Amino acid sequence: MEAEQADRFLVEQIKSGDQGAWRQLIDRYHGRLVAFAKARTASLSDAEDLVQEAFVGFIQSLDHYDLSRSLETYLFTILRYKLFDQLRQRKMTLISEPNDAEDWWDRIIPGTTETPSGVAATMEAEIAQENLLAEMLRQLIHEYRDRDAFQDLQVIELVFYAGKRNIDVGELLGIDQKAVAGIKFRAIQKLQKYLSEKDEAALACLDESNADVTVCRVWRERRLTCLKRSTLGSYLMDVLDEPWLSYTQLHLDVVGCPLCLANLADLESEEDDRLPADTERMFQSSVGFLKSGS
Ligand SMILES: [Zn+2]
Repeated sequence: MEAEQADRFLVEQIKSGDQGAWRQLIDRYHGRLVAFAKARTASLSDAEDLVQEAFVGFIQSLDHYDLSRSLETYLFTILRYKLFDQLRQRKMTLISEPNDAEDWWDRIIPGTTETPSGVAATMEAEIAQENLLAEMLRQLIHEYRDRDAFQDLQVIELVFYAGKRNIDVGELLGIDQKAVAGIKFRAIQKLQKYLSEKDEAALACLDESNADVTVCRVWRERRLTCLKRSTLGSYLMDVLDEPWLSYTQLHLDVVGCPLCLANLADLESEEDDRLPADTERMFQSSVGFLKSGS
């Protein structure tokens, strides 16, 4: 992954106090973060304030950032925490009352393993197990794609990524909820089989009592079916071929992934040539938190 390597390199430079690298990170990410926050706050300036705080939060937690994880996801996670904090302080609820259909993401409080201190406290063995589970889930998703099992893929993405109930998934896709339950059951069975082939001990992370919750969490944290920015760009230009077009529409329109929708909004506003957000202010207000350059 070239983009991820570039991110890693950038973070290394920021760690050593490189202000130019910090400016680059802000330039690269502020648009999608502001787009995400804007959909959840009263005004653009509220959204920009939150993103500014998230950038400061990122610098302050740099030592805990695991370079093997996606930088974009990490930034979104910090932003979500800032959003939750602000709502708690102001005793506000989100602008739109969360409902089952659209705002599923807003009802999820970020998991403890997503926080910087949470990551630090998570046992190494647990992390290794999660990595393995993520790998097996990727394998499962590829397998569905390879045999064109689009409906099965739709079902498991809605169940495990969007956290929807069987009955709601059934309604959404026009199939029986028993069929949904069957697809979900077989997916878990397959995962257990893959895991046992790899490492008998790893099966423990997927016993019956916690399988759903664990798969949900790993899928979300790793964003296993999220779209690359280049794919979103092709989608906007209307040059995406099947089956990717269907996967993209599923993820954006049916699942309604807020992180990919924020990326899409950002890309769209780049196309519109809209005035850039106040990145200079974001830079000036956060650069002081960097280690002094060496
Ligand atoms: Zn996504």
